[in-house]
Amino acid sequence: MLLPILKYGAIVLKTSSSPVDVFDGELEKIAKNMIETMYVAPGIGLAAPQIGLNIRLATIDLSVGEDPSQVLVICNPEITSTEGEQKCDEGCLSIPEFSEVVARPRKMIVRALTLHGDEITINAEGILARCLSHEIDHLNGVLFIDHLSPLKRTLIRNKIKKLTKAGEW
Ligand SMILES: [Zn+2]
Repeated sequence: MLLPILKYGAIVLKTSSSPVDVFDGELEKIAKNMIETMYVAPGIGLAAPQIGLNIRLATIDLSVGEDPSQVLVICNPEITSTEGEQKCDEGCLSIPEFSEVVARPRKMIVRALTLHGDEITINAEGILARCLSHEIDHLNGVLFIDHLSPLKRTLIRNKIKKLTKAGEW
């Protein structure tokens, strides 16, 4: 089932999410719908707050549905270490049409739980590290524009305000 993706301005995107504590069929259903929604968007990552749920759940697939082995569903992820820095143009499904250069760790190790509550460790670098960092930010109520200079952030906010007034956001 496709879910509506909430846009910048929704309170749920600015709220820190609660850990997943029940690993049941309902959680699996939510994750399945999130993956479907992410593919159609299309995007390489989606966090539960973006579909209106403040739980620490995110889906990632750098292949956007091309390679099933790349699908990653993570619950309660925690960054245990980071290394280096990468700067790259970045966007977000909740802030469509905008992108800016954001600095992220080049490498990171993330510990998380699967949909069945099993612990996994992800050794990520490059785009995967960037994507994990971006999605984990979502679970803490942080958006990519929060990493920008106050000036750039204000410019984007003002453009979104205008779009909202015009009923185009
Ligand atoms: Zn995002």
